[in-house]
Amino acid sequence: MMKAEVRTLIELYEAEFENQAPDEALEPIRARISDPMLARYDSMKQRFGKSVMSPLQHGACSACHMQVSNAQRLKLAENVVICETCGRLIYDPEILYGVLMEERNSKPQSKESSQ
Ligand SMILES: [Zn+2]
Repeated sequence: MMKAEVRTLIELYEAEFENQAPDEALEPIRARISDPMLARYDSMKQRFGKSVMSPLQHGACSACHMQVSNAQRLKLAENVVICETCGRLIYDPEILYGVLMEERNSKPQSKESSQ
C-alpha cells in the first residue's frame, strides 16, 4: 500500500528531472502523493535540486553516506525515509525495482507456497 507512494514519488522525480516534463504533466502525478510527502519533497528539492531523492547504498544515504538506522531500515521496506543527517528522501532501489517488476509481470500464477 505504501509502496505505491514510493513508486509515485519516483515517477514524479523522473518526470521532473529526467524527462523535464511541464507542470501540467506533473500535476496528475502530484495529485497521487500525500500532502506531507509532497511538502517534504518540494522543500528538499529547493535545497538539493536533483539530488533530492537519495537511493540507499550499502545501507547508507548515498548523498551524505550516513548509515541508516535499523528503525529506518524497517520503514524503507514500505516507504521512503528522511535522512536524519542531510534531510534527503532515501529510498531502497531494490525494493522499488521489486515493485516495478511485480507490476510488469503480474501473472496470477507466479505465487509460490512453501511447506
Ligand atoms: Zn543523507
